[in-house]
Amino acid sequence: MLGQMMKMPLLISSLIDNAAKNHSDTKIVSVETAGGIARRDWGQTALQARKLASALGKMGLAQSARVGTLAWNNYRHLEIYFGASGGGFVCHTINPRLFAEQLVFVVNDAQDQVLFLEETFVPIIAAIQDQLPTLKAIVLMGPRNEAASAQIAELQFYDELVETGDAAYTWPELDEDLASSLCYTSGTTGNPKGVLYSHRSTVLHAFGASLPDSLNISARSVLLPVVPMFHVNAWGVPYAAAMTGASLVMPGPNLDGASLVALIEGEGVTCALGVPTIWQGLLAAAKAEGAKLENLQTTVIGGSACPPAMIETFHKDFNVETIHAWGMTEISPLGTVNQLLAKHADLPEDEKLAVRLSQGRPVFGVDMVIHDEEGAVLPNDGAAQGKLMVRGHWVVDSYFGAEPATALEGGWFDTGDIATLDADSYLTIRDRSKDVIKSGGEWISSVELEGIAIGHDELADAGIIGAFHEKWDERPVLIAVKAEGYDPDEKTILEWFKGRIAAWQIPDKVVFVESLPRNATGKILKNKLRDDWADVLTKGEKKNG
Ligand code: AMP
Repeated sequence: MLGQMMKMPLLISSLIDNAAKNHSDTKIVSVETAGGIARRDWGQTALQARKLASALGKMGLAQSARVGTLAWNNYRHLEIYFGASGGGFVCHTINPRLFAEQLVFVVNDAQDQVLFLEETFVPIIAAIQDQLPTLKAIVLMGPRNEAASAQIAELQFYDELVETGDAAYTWPELDEDLASSLCYTSGTTGNPKGVLYSHRSTVLHAFGASLPDSLNISARSVLLPVVPMFHVNAWGVPYAAAMTGASLVMPGPNLDGASLVALIEGEGVTCALGVPTIWQGLLAAAKAEGAKLENLQTTVIGGSACPPAMIETFHKDFNVETIHAWGMTEISPLGTVNQLLAKHADLPEDEKLAVRLSQGRPVFGVDMVIHDEEGAVLPNDGAAQGKLMVRGHWVVDSYFGAEPATALEGGWFDTGDIATLDADSYLTIRDRSKDVIKSGGEWISSVELEGIAIGHDELADAGIIGAFHEKWDERPVLIAVKAEGYDPDEKTILEWFKGRIAAWQIPDKVVFVESLPRNATGKILKNKLRDDWADVLTKGEKKNG
């Protein structure tokens, strides 16, 4: 024997134990669904999580039983994250924006045995309860509520359930490869697919997320995860916060700009995380109110490409640095994060901005390459674009209910994104493979065109599709929503593209609509846009319109 290091399993319970032991009085601020703000700390969260795990055990749940949540970002949801997973059950976060049929599908596919839900969603579940045969208990996240009881038979109450748990409960020693949580992909077509995270992948992801060149999370951070806890575990922020002892500010159901500005200013938030659409509302509200966002140092933006104008506004008007990040449900979600390198420190601002626009560099733990159509590796030269393939400690191997490794091609997971990597490994996402526009054999990035369109003050939303064209096969068409109080015409909008992109890439047409169709996680439903407008250049009108 040459000697050995200890082997301790990487468990989610160790994260919350650490938060309780070393950061007990660090605050957890929570906007309540019923109104008002609840103030807790990591010590209380850990105790409640243990009592909840004990209570779930007393309900008779077996190891790996699925526990569903239909919930906003708040302190009870945080307790369920740690209590369910820590106790050896699987925390299945469900997106409440799914259609009723999809909700029925995911609860049944996951075979959820318990469902925790917010008062907001009582009517939705009351309507489909008889189609959810696997549920043994439905638990309202709050105190006893007779109005809710009248809608759902045998409804239980979170605050009472937790009290049935044992305060002396100790976490079980689990296998680190055991499943800890489950999240379904948003699925723009077909049924959503389940991605099952393990204790090990979650803890390693929390290390990766916290690193300085990653999201840079520490005990001095006050984090506002606007990204929902039902969307890829709020990007892993709750786990990284427990690991580092960061403070959490949970926004509850109020995600409008004014509410977020109040929370950022009132609670001293240093870092806020969310998708671009959320920040559009926040920036508008902050400007309207003359808010300064003094404490805010960074915004982490991901989920869709961050429009260049947004990075600039945060920087110039609020002295806030934007960290652009890329990820997906299948990779827990963090893949790349955009932080500058030492060699960029002395660059002029506009050149720094150009670097900041890309989706950033791989976080240790995720390896990536670009493949051409035949599977050959393309060079990291910033020009060759192809299929983005990833592998790593927190990348899916197979979907929930599928055979091992069925999601992989030769050990790599095909992200479905089309991208370039440059010599410094900065990733630029050009498109989803199915959204790519090919005009006369040349690729046009819809992501880039959307970023330019959204930078126009008179537009509120923009989606680019490839429409059929007799000569070029496809040409870009902009489907745009006018900003409130403005009435731009097609010519003005097309002029805006001049000088911002090569002339041949400028869209052929602008179609103005009232709103863009989006899926449950807020992504534009491009297939729906294509269904409606793919013939607009050849036939001059909306299909079926
Ligand atoms: P989801 O699994 O719902 O989080 O969706 C993942 C997909 O969102 C990725 O495959 C990308 O197509 C897209 N996505 C995520 N982050 C970004 C980003 N920063 N820029 C562009 N696309 C992104």
